[in-house]
Amino acid sequence: MVNAISVLGSTGSIGRQTLAAAEHLGLRVAALTAQKKTDLLEQQARQFHPAFVAVYDEQAAKDFKTRMADTDIRVGSGIEGLMEAATLSECDCVVTAVSGAIGLRPTLAAIDERKRIALANKETLVCAGEIVMRRAKEKGAEIVPVDSEHSAIFQCLMGRRPGELKKILLTGSGGPFRGKPREELENVTPEQAVAHPNWSMGPKISVDSATMMNKGLEFIEAMHLFSVTPDDITVVVHPQSVIHSMVELIDGTVIAQLGVPDMGLPIQLALTYPERCPSLFGRLDFYTLRDLTFEAPDYEKTPCLKLAMDCARKGGVAPCVMSAANEVAVHLFLGHKLGYNRIYEAAAGAVETLGSGAASDLETILAADEAARAYVRENY
Ligand code: MG
Repeated sequence: MVNAISVLGSTGSIGRQTLAAAEHLGLRVAALTAQKKTDLLEQQARQFHPAFVAVYDEQAAKDFKTRMADTDIRVGSGIEGLMEAATLSECDCVVTAVSGAIGLRPTLAAIDERKRIALANKETLVCAGEIVMRRAKEKGAEIVPVDSEHSAIFQCLMGRRPGELKKILLTGSGGPFRGKPREELENVTPEQAVAHPNWSMGPKISVDSATMMNKGLEFIEAMHLFSVTPDDITVVVHPQSVIHSMVELIDGTVIAQLGVPDMGLPIQLALTYPERCPSLFGRLDFYTLRDLTFEAPDYEKTPCLKLAMDCARKGGVAPCVMSAANEVAVHLFLGHKLGYNRIYEAAAGAVETLGSGAASDLETILAADEAARAYVRENY
């Protein structure tokens, strides 16, 4: 179990739930960071008394510093601020809950300091999976997944010997538009897209769940986290989100992890691992549980999932380009500036135009990320 955590992205959905878990577990909070939502950040800083707080936006950081003048909390800004929060000597675990490629450099810096990474930033592995996993292995830093599916797989693999795993069964609810043909989704509004049937999440990931791009990103993430090939992962649509993912072993045994759909659970485990602690979350009641159903994904209706799986096979900068283009397209959609079905078109267009080439180093990856964002802003 960890002692003191730094939370990168503490005002987002995962960040807030992480602080709730820290409070429940009695963990020290060493650092907090946020993009620019400083009202909530101030409240969090006054409650948890971290040694250091970073605000990414420079202007917001200045204002924040003034507001915190009556405390002894140090305030930083920009990417340097995030890097400092990730490498503070008093923290032994960094929760990476920022969204986007911005999490990449702080995560690598934390790995270099051998911090445990409670990984909630998908882009880190989607964009730079090979680099990050290699570095973690070299440095001996633990990476414990926070994403519910990867936490489930991680738990199913606890105590397994290498070579026992045959296949990962990555489950997904199919989102709010499961089974609907694309023509019917033409005029979907952001409000409809973010209304997820089972999970309460931030707006960007909720839209990704609706398009199933989220499952595609998780597919790539799983490949890197568990050192498997795309052929070793099967996506299973499971609308009830009771099973959070499964593994099939070489003898045909399937092990599943079940629980109430609450992100607080995988967050808590990432902080207490390898121990488990009592939690305040709901319990599954098998007497009242509805049917558990399963189906194959329909790639015609969810082309984003197919695109991500193709990018996983393609490798190089393709996953990074796809993810960055998707992120910009989703934000345009959320701002009513792009149609729902155009999200896929923007991501696919970016991959077509910019998705070739090796992801040899961090600079190449960050440049591909930036080019993909510019491509979508200019063309959509
Ligand atoms: Mg997930």
